[in-house]
Amino acid sequence: MAIEIENPYDVAIAQFDEAAERLGLSQPMRAILRKPKRELIVNFPVRMDNGDVEMFTGYRVQHNINRGPAKGGIRFSPQVSLDEVRALAMWMTWKCAVVSIPFGGAKGGVICDPHKLSRAELERLTRRYTTEIAIFIGPNSDIPAPDMNTNPQIMSWMMDTYSMHTGYSVPAVITGKPLAIGGSEGRLEATARGVQYVTREAIRDRGWRAERCSVVIQGFGNVGGVSARLLREMGCRIVAVSDISGGIYNPDGIDMPRVTRYSREHGGLKGAPGTEAVTNAELLELPCDILIPAALENQITGKNAARIKAQLIVEAANGPTTPEAEQILNDMGVTIVPDILANAGGVTVSYFEWVQDLQRFFWAESEINNRLETIMTRSYRAVCAKAQEQETNLRMGAYLLAVARVAEATELRGVYP
Ligand code: NAD
Repeated sequence: MAIEIENPYDVAIAQFDEAAERLGLSQPMRAILRKPKRELIVNFPVRMDNGDVEMFTGYRVQHNINRGPAKGGIRFSPQVSLDEVRALAMWMTWKCAVVSIPFGGAKGGVICDPHKLSRAELERLTRRYTTEIAIFIGPNSDIPAPDMNTNPQIMSWMMDTYSMHTGYSVPAVITGKPLAIGGSEGRLEATARGVQYVTREAIRDRGWRAERCSVVIQGFGNVGGVSARLLREMGCRIVAVSDISGGIYNPDGIDMPRVTRYSREHGGLKGAPGTEAVTNAELLELPCDILIPAALENQITGKNAARIKAQLIVEAANGPTTPEAEQILNDMGVTIVPDILANAGGVTVSYFEWVQDLQRFFWAESEINNRLETIMTRSYRAVCAKAQEQETNLRMGAYLLAVARVAEATELRGVYP
């Protein structure tokens, strides 16, 4: 049996190596694209509410900027590590290339548990981290966005901190901001809307009907929670959802508006009426047509892949499936819509937000959603066509498209000096 690779950066490298081999990239090109361009580690103090000073560690990694400024989210989590941020930065490079938006890839994170910080502590941590990475970020160089445990308020503090250093407002330095300070219509829902569009296309390709599809979703945050709502609106039956406290299951379909209200009022899904409790591990193996991991990496592994019942997996999270699991699922005939395509709706509307901020000219929500739909469906079709042409799966189809685009830009720009 193959050894399970669980370090996300090793997974990202293994995926890249396979694409590079299939594309016949030269050894120097492989060497360039395998390495992140820049890595910044920051250790910084934050004054806590009780007067103590605690040290925190954060990162910002830019993987490749040959197609445009670096772009990628900021994650606050106890599990953040340099290798995780490197992997996520590399995936951002490919993601922007899959959907053909003019950005390179980056990612950032701070090792912390934001649920244990007061609002004031969270603000001080955010502002100090922004100051520490200010040498990297900027509207023309590197534009952060939300990711796990970060939200529009945190983006507001980041934008304000950067603007304070600059001496005037620079809304285009951050995306995922509230509307009142230069955010875009549709950004909050964008990742989930992208998930909805590719799921709709994949349902059509299978000759299924949304009304007949049962869906299980892991993660009930910005991506998972909104995906549940949008897929329900599309007609799907949501049979299970989960958050960090565990999952809830109802084979007849969960009443999403009721459960969403319950989760908001009780700070989690646990104990939601009309549902039975399942663990996050059990949730992944429930009978369903479509499984949507929307929480974190390495959820579908060599250990549980053979027990997955879904025929279609749509990766709303980044890196939820290990290569060993993917092999098992491929052999079982399960289709996986890969993360670098499935969750690209977020960065696509972030791109719209950046363009609107630079132009000081804002678009209507219908225009945002129409443009997003066009990009997501076009990219999905291009990935399917590439996979078919190369007789491979959708992940490799997406990689072949993306890596070729980044390699072309890198080749054209040449090696400086
Ligand atoms: P979020 O913080 O809003 O929500 C995360 C959800 O996952 C929460 O419901 C949390 O309770 C749950 N969770 C955390 N740990 C868990 C665990 N161990 N088991 C089960 N559930 C757990 O984050 P998000 O923005 O929704 O991001 C989710 C995923 O989507 C991440 O992989 C992120 O990188 C990816 N993503 C997010 C965006 C975006 O625009 N926010 C864009 C692209 C990809």
